[in-house]
Amino acid sequence: MRIIDVRACQPACASPPDWRTSLGQILVAVDTDAGLTGYGVGGGGLSAIHIIRTVLRDLLMGRDPEPIDVLWRDMYRATLPFGRKGVAIMALSGVDLALWDLRGKAERRSVVERLGGVRHREIPTYGTAWDIIPDDMVGRHAGYKLHLGQVNDAELVEATARARARVGMTRLLMVDAWMRWDVPRTLRYAEAVEALQLHWIEEPLPPDDINGYAELVRSCPIPIAGGEHEFTAAAFRELIQWQLHHIVQPDVCWCGGMTQLVEIYRVAAEHNVRVCPHRGAEVWSLPALAALDPQPLAESGRPWMTWVGGQPPIRDGWIEAPDGPGFGVTIDEAKLDVLY
Ligand SMILES: [Mg+2]
Repeated sequence: MRIIDVRACQPACASPPDWRTSLGQILVAVDTDAGLTGYGVGGGGLSAIHIIRTVLRDLLMGRDPEPIDVLWRDMYRATLPFGRKGVAIMALSGVDLALWDLRGKAERRSVVERLGGVRHREIPTYGTAWDIIPDDMVGRHAGYKLHLGQVNDAELVEATARARARVGMTRLLMVDAWMRWDVPRTLRYAEAVEALQLHWIEEPLPPDDINGYAELVRSCPIPIAGGEHEFTAAAFRELIQWQLHHIVQPDVCWCGGMTQLVEIYRVAAEHNVRVCPHRGAEVWSLPALAALDPQPLAESGRPWMTWVGGQPPIRDGWIEAPDGPGFGVTIDEAKLDVLY
């Protein structure tokens, strides 16, 4: 089998008017002379599409789509002078996932089977909300995560207490600071909310504040999570070996695809660090949660990526990985409304 085209576009969808639109999720298609097309999703919008069209496509044209890890290494090397982290790896992620989808279609088996088979048929989910957990979300998940806005310390604690009262003490509750706090503020907050039994505090610091994370892991009474803005298994290996997080949260559509997520799970298991993928309830990482994760918890998908068909539903706080070939997705290219 040979690759005869690598295509990428950013489908239009009702995403918020921020980076999620301007650098939104891209669809990647890898076509082969066997008539099979693999689909994947990456990030980085038009910039990532440009990298695929001008660098990665040229590299892959005419190549055998296997072994994927060899193609991954070649794509990483080709983007190394300007890549390593961020948009280039987001582009590479979409291609990697399309190659995994293609592999599954060629072998007529799901990515879950390829990863060793179903370890967890049903996976508990958590819902993510901003500032307040809405009525229509309460009772629908095993856990909830609250994004906390830029407010003062007292308001952060009040918002957390309100969320805990809304979901009750039996459900998991996490908070996400989206890289906006510092070490003293995180420790003050953690002390103030200790009785509310948070499951984790996510990305309290910017990802490059290595010393800050090391200090938090040593002294914060609440587990520290992060990593959705980190890229490649090599970088996660550092996070894990240096014990900079209790829980790492790679995003398979950004961190380098399934090839990297599998390696991140392997390294994390060696060091007893938990992996809880960002957007884990979306089809692209669900196979890893179902096959590799000793303690899976799937973050609810984003409702605006409606152009990915075959996304399994969340029922009463549970989700199952699809069992169709590859990622089990259906993409109706004729109906795609393309932004770029
Ligand atoms: Mg987050």
